[in-house]
Parts: sequence; structure tokens; C-alpha cells
Amino acid sequence: MNLPLDRLTNVTGFGMITGADGYLFRPTQVEEFYEILQLAKSTGRQITMRGSGRSYGDANIGSESILLDITRFNQILSFDPQTGVIDCQAGVTIEQLWRHTLESSFWPPVVSGTMFPTMGGALGMNLHGKNAFKAGPIGNHVIEIEVLFPNGEHSVLTQSDPLFFQVISTAGLLGIILRVKLQMHQINSGDVRVLPLSIPNWDAQFKTFENFRNEADYMVSWIDCFARGKSAGRGDFHAAYYMDEPSQFPITLRPEHQDLPDTIMGFFPKSVVWRFIKRLNNRTGMRFTNWAKHTSGKILGNGKPHPLSLVGFNFLLDYVPNWRNSYLPGGFIQYQSFVPAEQAPRVFAQQLELQQAAKLESFLGVMKRHVPDNFLFSHGVDGYSLALDFKITKTNKESVWKLAHQMNELVLAAGGRFYLAKDSTLTPDHFTQSIGPESFQTYAQLKLRLDPDSILTSDLARRLHLDPRD
Ligand SMILES: Cc1cc2nc3c(=O)[nH]c(=O)nc-3n(C[C@H](O)[C@H](O)[C@H](O)COP(=O)(O)OP(=O)(O)OC[C@H]3O[C@@H](n4cnc5c(N)ncnc54)[C@H](O)[C@@H]3O)c2cc1C
Repeated sequence: MNLPLDRLTNVTGFGMITGADGYLFRPTQVEEFYEILQLAKSTGRQITMRGSGRSYGDANIGSESILLDITRFNQILSFDPQTGVIDCQAGVTIEQLWRHTLESSFWPPVVSGTMFPTMGGALGMNLHGKNAFKAGPIGNHVIEIEVLFPNGEHSVLTQSDPLFFQVISTAGLLGIILRVKLQMHQINSGDVRVLPLSIPNWDAQFKTFENFRNEADYMVSWIDCFARGKSAGRGDFHAAYYMDEPSQFPITLRPEHQDLPDTIMGFFPKSVVWRFIKRLNNRTGMRFTNWAKHTSGKILGNGKPHPLSLVGFNFLLDYVPNWRNSYLPGGFIQYQSFVPAEQAPRVFAQQLELQQAAKLESFLGVMKRHVPDNFLFSHGVDGYSLALDFKITKTNKESVWKLAHQMNELVLAAGGRFYLAKDSTLTPDHFTQSIGPESFQTYAQLKLRLDPDSILTSDLARRLHLDPRD
């Protein structure tokens, strides 16, 4: 039996470097998930799970497979404004969560740098936020998940089931998450108090993170990857703190207070900003942009706390619609490595030196503090992550991959990890080494039991040989 050709759709990961044709299905009812599993078996096709497509690389695409897109399976089933427990279908996005709960004084416990991920995608990757050093990944705050496995089992899993920690984080390769019950975080204000600090070098970066670790609620630092010598590692650090407000129904808890304006400085339409960024989106333009950002950070507002909406603070990148188009025509990759605290200063410094020697400096560098967790494909370490964006052109792809592999070696030698949501360049050996042979063995056994016909896949799974039958 063949699948209807009119379902064939080309999709890409968020970085747009590769696309794949898949047979698109967007179910709205639980029964349809069963039917699609049956369809896959009867047609000999595999299934790739896809949320909002915000993973940068190839985790949400699957050449010639059934593309099971969960974005229409997006009902909030219940919310208790007393306890902050929310129960929702897997296609509900982070944006839907905060819009639904904010006026009851609740905010998602962990959010990514964009509000568009679905809960299915968020748990497939077990995303982290700028509060990773305190809150860990989002899976830590999940009370219950309902999962349909390709072998026909349908289970409700809680934190007392080992399988809970194995389905979450394994990139949609063990089971289909259908429903999520999540504990939201209680807040008193829709604003956070943000403290910006201009940071001169690596040494000061690491010291600042450690100094604020016990008091801040969120921490993040932007790194200028062009700076070298004594200025290597310079950037802007931001600590943010939840706030209290005297009023019982503060205006900051209304969604309209959070909504980002359509214009910049009151008149400039945000929708065209990416066209200006595109002009600067080359090595010279980005060297200048990074320098200008650091210089203005030193002069304007350095050390002066100010209030900012939770949306403005957490989802800065959503502020500029279609910003990724500035990387066209070749697209871009994000490379994020996680390195234990003791080794991170040396590894990150060397990663920057390698980029500079290759004249392939990342146009955007972002650093965060993390803690370990119990999930099977965990990227959490007691240490730091550095996320790096690389523009891909017709001529530089091979050199960027070579650079990534050199940086991987540094990370692996330091006992570090990688994050599949941000990966495009790992080899099977690199990935197995990073999670360790024991975790890989556990995964392989689970895959054979829960997905005996190897139904769940993705181009990432094929690239990293995540099917033990390969
Ligand atoms: C601008 C930007 C900023 C970001 N910032 C951060 C950040 O700060 N922290 C962070 O951790 N991540 C960050 N990310 C990455 C993003 O949070 C993750 O890639 C997340 O997984 C995207 O969710 P999605 O719904 O788009 O899922 P997709 O990318 O579509 O899918 C992600 C994975 O989940 C699987 N999957 C999807 N649905 C299900 C399901 N129902 N059951 C089982 N598996 C499923 C897919 O097969 C895939 O492997 C950022 C991404 C962007 C574009």
C-alpha cells in the first residue's frame, strides 16, 4: 500500500541547512495516532515526530517517512489556579501555557529562548532555560506524561517510573508523548528585575556566574566571539530576579503587558528588521555588531537594575520576526556544548581560539550555567554551556564541520556533553562517547523492546545510528 503523494511535504530544521520530504499528518484526536502507527506498519514507512520545528538540525525531519506533526493536537485539558498544575495535549506550546496561566500568577517553570516549542518537542529534547542552574531541565517539573509506544503499549508515566526519565530527552525515538501534566511556577509579578553587567574577559565571566548563582533566578551571558587576547570572553552578563508587587492584581500579570510591540522605537516595523540584519550578517558586519554591543553595554545601563516583562526577558529572539531569514540562502547551525565547571574556562577559550584561527567566528555566543539531571540523553552537567551560531555558505560548510569536530574533541576529553536540539555535526562515536556506553546500551535495549519494528526515526537518528539494528 502506498501513501498519498499529495501529503508529501518538504520541511527543514530551524537552521534551514537541510530539508527532507515526508508524508505530513496532523492529527487532532488520540485515535488518529493509533491509525498512523498502523498505517506506518502496513506501508513499511517509519515515523518522524515533529513539534513546532524549532530544533536547529535534523531531529524533526525524516526523509521519506511519515511526518507526525502534533501542532493541531493542542488542547489545554485542565488548569488548577490554586495549585498551578496544568494538563495539556502534547501540541500545546510554551506560549499557550503562559497566556493561559499568567493572570492566575503562574509562569512555566522552564522556558527556552523562544516561546514557540510544543510540550512534545520540549520533552523530546528536555529543554532548559536561563534558570537551568536552579531549575534543571523542564522534565524535572513534569508530574505525568501519557505515552503511546510503537509496540502498542499505552502508559501513564510519573517520576517513580524509570521509563519517565528515558522517554523524556530521547528525541522522540522511544515513544509518542500524547499528554503532559506540568507544575507551573508561582509568581507575584509579570516582570523580572534585570541586572546587566559588562564583563571584560573569560575569567570575569566565570566568576560572575559563580557569584550570582545562589541569589539570581535567571542568569545568561552573551559572548563576543571575535574578541581575543586579554579581551577574549568579554560580553554582557544578565542576572534576573522574580519580583513582588504591592497590588493584588498587578497589571504586569496581564498578557497585554507582556505582548511585544510591533514596532521598534514606536515607528520602525519589526517585520522588516531581518532585512537589515542580513546586510550585516557577514564576518565584517558581525565583528562590528559584536564590538558595538559590548561597547554600548559598558556605557549604557551597566550595573543598573531595571524591570522587564518575563516575555521580553526570556524570548528576546522572538522580538524580531523571521530573524533566521537573515542567514539565507545557506542557513545556519547552532553548536552547543556542555562542559564540567572546572574544565569549561579552558575548553571555551580554546573553542574560540580555534574559530578565530579558522576565521569562522560564531556571530552569536551565549553562555549558561547548568546542573546534572537523571534523564537518559541528558545534556546537563555541573558546569557551563556555550551556544554558538555559525552561518553556512556554499563555500564554508566543510570547514565549519571540521571546526565542529575539533571542538567536539575538546568537549569529550573534558567529559562534556552535547544537546541534540542544537546538533547538526556530531558523529555516532562522538554522541555515544558523550552520553557513555552504559546509557547507550540502556537506550538500545529499550528501543528494541518498545519499538520492535523500528517505526520511530529522524534524519538525526539515522545520522547518529540511533537504531540498534543499524
Ligand atoms: C530561537 C530559539 C531559541 C532556543 N532556545 C533554547 C533554549 O534556551 N534552551 C533549550 O533547551 N532549547 C532552546 N531551543 C531549542 C528548542 O527549545 C528545542 O529544539 C525544542 O525541542 C523545540 O520544540 P519543538 O516543538 O519545535 O520540537 P521539534 O523541534 O519539532 O522536535 C524536537 C524533538 O522532539 C521530538 N518530538 C516532537 N513531538 C514529540 C512527541 N509528541 N513525543 C515525542 N517526541 C516528540 C521530535 O522528533 C524531535 O526529536 C531554541 C530554539 C530556537 C529556534
